[in-house]
Amino acid sequence: MGKRGLKVNRPQRGPLEVFEHRRTLSLTGREQSQLHACFGNRSYSQPMGCVSMTKIGIIICGRYQGCGGGKCFRSLRERHGAFAMYPPEEAVEIVGYSTCGGCPGGNVEYVPEEMKKNGAEVIHLATCFLVGYPPCPSIAQFKAFVGSAYGLPVVIGTHPIPQKYMDRHEQLPFWQDYKVAELAKPLMEEAREIKVAYN
Ligand code: SF4
Repeated sequence: MGKRGLKVNRPQRGPLEVFEHRRTLSLTGREQSQLHACFGNRSYSQPMGCVSMTKIGIIICGRYQGCGGGKCFRSLRERHGAFAMYPPEEAVEIVGYSTCGGCPGGNVEYVPEEMKKNGAEVIHLATCFLVGYPPCPSIAQFKAFVGSAYGLPVVIGTHPIPQKYMDRHEQLPFWQDYKVAELAKPLMEEAREIKVAYN
C-alpha cells in the first residue's frame, strides 16, 4: 500500500523518474537533491499496484490576479505543459494557490511557507510569469529564493504556452534576454498542436 493506501497499477520507478515520465527537466544538482529529499525512496519502496499523491502549490503573476485559473486546472487534468512531468496515474493535489502580490512580487517571500505547511512538495510558478509583456523580471530570483528558503523544488510553468504568445514573443527580445529557453525548456519544446489548443 502507498502512504495513502490507494491502489492502482503502477510500475516501480526511481524518484527522479517520477518527474521525468514524459519529459526531461532541466534540474540543477541542488534541485535534484531537493526532489530526493521530498520523495526519498518512495518510488523504490512502493510495491506494484500502489500510487502516490504529489501536493503542489501554484503562484500566479499578480498582473493576472483576476484569472479564473482555467488553463492551469485544465492542463493539470490533461497532464499538459509543466504538469506533463506527473504520470497520468499519479494523483496531484493543489494545496495552495495564490498570486505573487503584484510587482515586485513580495508575496513570493511568504506564500510558499503556507503552502509547505499544507503539504506542498513542489512549487509551480505559473506560465503567466513567462508570457506577459514583459515576462516577470524576477522569475529566476524567485525560483532561487524559494528553493533556498523553503527547500522545495520550483518548476517554472503550469499550462502550455498558448501559441499566440509564442508567435508574439518570437517578434520580441524578452525571452532571449530572460533565457526562457533554459528556464522553461519543457514548455518551450511542447508540441505546437498542444500550444494551439491552449490559445
Ligand atoms: S511581473 Fe513578476 S513581480 Fe510583477 S506581478 Fe508578475 S510575477 Fe509578480
